Amino acid sequence: MSKAVVSSLYDSDVFRMACRQFDKAADAISLPEAVRDRTKYPRRCLAVSLPVKRRDGSVTVFEGYRVQHNLSTGPSKGGIRFHQDVTLGEVAALAMWMSWKTSLVGLPYGGAKGGVIVNPSELDENELEHLSRRYMQEMVNFVGPHVDVPAPDVGTNEKIMGWMMDTYSNHAGHVESAVVTGKPIALGGSQGRREATGAGVAYLTKRYLEDLGIPVDRATVAIQGFGNVGSETALALAAYGAKIIAISDYTGGIHNAKGIDLAKAIAYVRYQKTLHDFHEGEAITNEQLLELPCTVLAPCALERVITDQNAAKLKCRVLAEGANGPTTNAADKIIEARGDIELIPDVLCNSGGVIVSYFEWLQNLSNFYWSRDEVLQKLFAMLDKAKAAVDAQKGKFKFSRRLAALTLGIQRVADAKAARGLFP
Ligand code: NAD
Repeated sequence: MSKAVVSSLYDSDVFRMACRQFDKAADAISLPEAVRDRTKYPRRCLAVSLPVKRRDGSVTVFEGYRVQHNLSTGPSKGGIRFHQDVTLGEVAALAMWMSWKTSLVGLPYGGAKGGVIVNPSELDENELEHLSRRYMQEMVNFVGPHVDVPAPDVGTNEKIMGWMMDTYSNHAGHVESAVVTGKPIALGGSQGRREATGAGVAYLTKRYLEDLGIPVDRATVAIQGFGNVGSETALALAAYGAKIIAISDYTGGIHNAKGIDLAKAIAYVRYQKTLHDFHEGEAITNEQLLELPCTVLAPCALERVITDQNAAKLKCRVLAEGANGPTTNAADKIIEARGDIELIPDVLCNSGGVIVSYFEWLQNLSNFYWSRDEVLQKLFAMLDKAKAAVDAQKGKFKFSRRLAALTLGIQRVADAKAARGLFP
């Protein structure tokens, strides 16, 4: 039987990295050929041109994408990224990881992701609103509460989700809050959604520290990226008693062995937009941050920052992947061979975001809203269940924790595809 030709549409370093992870996992569980490529490649994508009138009267056309990787297990789910380096291949890789993540934690979703090639900090509020609304307008026939449900990712936030929900609802002719998650509370957003990803990263980190017999209040933590995930991870770990000794954003980082005053850092970023010139410690580069001696290293920014160049130099005990895809395949091999770092893989570590997005969607569909305590309690119970499943799979097959998490996620998607069969 001839083998399917791999589409060149998504080809890029990061898509190849996601494919290599898939191939390794598929081999490890002997995934049948008949279902392999169907499970691996994205189902469909949409590329759109987004003209936006600028403040000087000119028009700029931005390019945007939405990739739906898997729609076999429910509506697809995944964030929308606004960043100048977005590519279709990156969006496809992120969509693929969303499929394994939702499946691993047992949500009735497939995976998707969206992106626009834009540096949002170069747009004023009006331009950002027009771009966000235009993106959703182009997606109206491609997304929906039972088709594909977007959420925030790098460069997007709850305000943008609010504009998108409003745009979709205007087209529908009625309020359709369940079309996006991560919305403002006033529009049906969930209590606890803003902090969900970071709260989940911190909770799992604490649980793994407990497994290692390391008291969380003796842990030191370095965090790359101080946006939604990085800052909320920092706050939650500090609330558990850990000391945050380094933080960073795209402008660089700060190291302070005595511990960083997070309230000051958050207030600074609120007004200055970046950590640049935040003099609460010694200035360091992002590369230096990754190599600091610390108990926990949490990359919470972009993909492929832990590579074969620095993996051997990491000095952490726990590597908590708040970001999606922060560790390259080559770095994975080095970390596995070292054997002295507990890696909490992205599909498990940052799954708190999509879990609480699921809660938000459920609340929207039922119009029945939960308290923050209820949300967090349910979140931690789901994370405990996923952690136990991953660690059992790891022990049973002597897999790395990443391979254990990926094989569980991939197997469930493949089983659903096999059970549904092929529509003629
Ligand atoms: P964000 O836009 O709120 O923050 C991103 C942070 O990373 C910012 O501080 C930014 O300055 C920093 N950054 C950007 N480029 C950098 C670079 N080259 N070096 C160092 N720092 C850099 O985005 P976010 O929502 O916090 O997402 C961060 C990561 O977490 C992404 O990988 C995203 O896919 C993942 N994630 C997000 C969620 C969510 O709910 N928002 C859920 C799961 C996973």
